Amino acid sequence: MRKICSVVGARPQFIKLAVVSRVLRKRFQEVLIHTGQHFDANMSDVFFEEMDIPRPDYNLGISGGSHGQMTGQMLIELEKVFVQEKPDMVLLFGDTNSTMAAALAAVKLHIPICHVEAGNRFGTLDSPEEVNRTVTDHLSSINLPCTQSSLEFLKREGLGHTATVVGDPMYDAFCYYTQRLDGSELQELVDPDGKPLAVPDAFYYMTCHRQENTDTDEKLQHIFDALEALDAPTIYPVHPRNRERARRLAVQGGYKKLLLAQPVGYKTSISLVNHAKKIVTDSGGVQREAFFAKKPCVTVLDFVVWPETMANGYNQLAKPDKEDILEKLHREITFDPAYQPFGDGHSAEKIVEKIEEYWR
Ligand code: UDP
Repeated sequence: MRKICSVVGARPQFIKLAVVSRVLRKRFQEVLIHTGQHFDANMSDVFFEEMDIPRPDYNLGISGGSHGQMTGQMLIELEKVFVQEKPDMVLLFGDTNSTMAAALAAVKLHIPICHVEAGNRFGTLDSPEEVNRTVTDHLSSINLPCTQSSLEFLKREGLGHTATVVGDPMYDAFCYYTQRLDGSELQELVDPDGKPLAVPDAFYYMTCHRQENTDTDEKLQHIFDALEALDAPTIYPVHPRNRERARRLAVQGGYKKLLLAQPVGYKTSISLVNHAKKIVTDSGGVQREAFFAKKPCVTVLDFVVWPETMANGYNQLAKPDKEDILEKLHREITFDPAYQPFGDGHSAEKIVEKIEEYWR
């Protein structure tokens, strides 16, 4: 049986791994490496537990520091694991420092790379994720974009021959786990002090943690001001990256409609998406989930990440500016039930088929 080393490190990668690993293990020996990039119980363990992800064979325990420090340490440690394990292929997901470090380690050892969620482009190397994605795409033997627009970017960079659209494993996960929700997952919300947080009947759901929106008080304050002017409270599970700033601003501003929470597990998050009136986010995953659930979404970013979600205003970009966010949130949006550019909920099978095909 051929051996595949899957490398993950951050929350959205655990979610993609959950659906792919289930299929992969029927036909390959999988060695699972967790770099340690996300390590808090509610950013890592909870996903392994509730999504039945196998225990990692290696946990490198590397997190924090500058981009260079983190990526460099991962490169050194991943190379050691690859030399020891001698995998037939390395399987990578998305666009984190863990992804790029693993790609660099593997390519220098002449191990072929399969990159899931390849091809997205913002059009600026100011974004650290863009750097990670671009490098990884160019080092991979198999690129598996989720959508047609991602394939087009790869073609423009001369990578069309490596690429096949397989659909989005985040859509697989959304379909699979939405069927397994029973409402109890909404009782798991806790506030920043660990006290239970009651979910109101009507609410908005926000996630916001990108460097671009959380590196100054001003932008996050504008976003909070917008939420305070809405007709229902907003539930906001705060990423550890901007926990301190969000808590301080929330206290200073005395916001009544802002419900801060600790990060939630995947099932709670998609349950919040499914029950929210509308979504505000800067997350690539959450803007797709809003689209999957047919909920209007405002993405507070300068860049289109998933052009397919932008059709008919389903997902709209806004500046971190109160008036802009409110204007976009107030627009009436109607979804076309037939429009589904993210595949059929079975991308994991297609991913594993493409991996098998490599040796045929
Ligand atoms: N998510 C979660 N708990 C939270 C916030 C988000 O499980 O408290 C989920 C969300 O539903 C989506 C994924 O995490 O599936 C998105 O991850 P993130 O925003 O960290 O990364 P991105 O998608 O921007 O790469």
